[in-house]
Amino acid sequence: MAGLRLTPRELRELIREYTGREVTACMQCGLCTAVCPVASFMDLHPAALVRAVQLGGVELPKLRSIWICVSCMTCVDKCPRDVAPGLVVETLRQLALKNGVEPRAYSQLPIDETTPSILLVTYSRKSTG
Ligand code: SF4
Ligand code: SF4
Repeated sequence: MAGLRLTPRELRELIREYTGREVTACMQCGLCTAVCPVASFMDLHPAALVRAVQLGGVELPKLRSIWICVSCMTCVDKCPRDVAPGLVVETLRQLALKNGVEPRAYSQLPIDETTPSILLVTYSRKSTG
């Protein structure tokens, strides 16, 4: 998984290349997390994920958030710094898939009566290509 051994700088540059956005612009206002409909189901909510990318501390094989995000892009519309967390998440998901990281199995998802159906539908789509 050579692609997963990126330095923090390489990861930031890859995200800039894929999204056209700059994660270092994030001021950690938390708005992306506040508007995200599935943030409470993530291990790293959108703002925390952007912070982790800033610091280069993302462990893709362990990261659940990239399979939980429903790609609604509400966070993209709301970000005052044009960081586009949803696109950052999508870039990380693509990076994971290209490097052989298996999508989380249903049994590893936080499914109970509070789980939004959109999470399950989107997960099915993302994990089956
Ligand atoms: S909304 Fe934008 S600036 Fe605010 S925490 Fe999220 S990514 Fe950072
Ligand atoms: S695109 Fe993903 S991270 Fe952004 S608000 Fe929607 S579900 Fe949350």
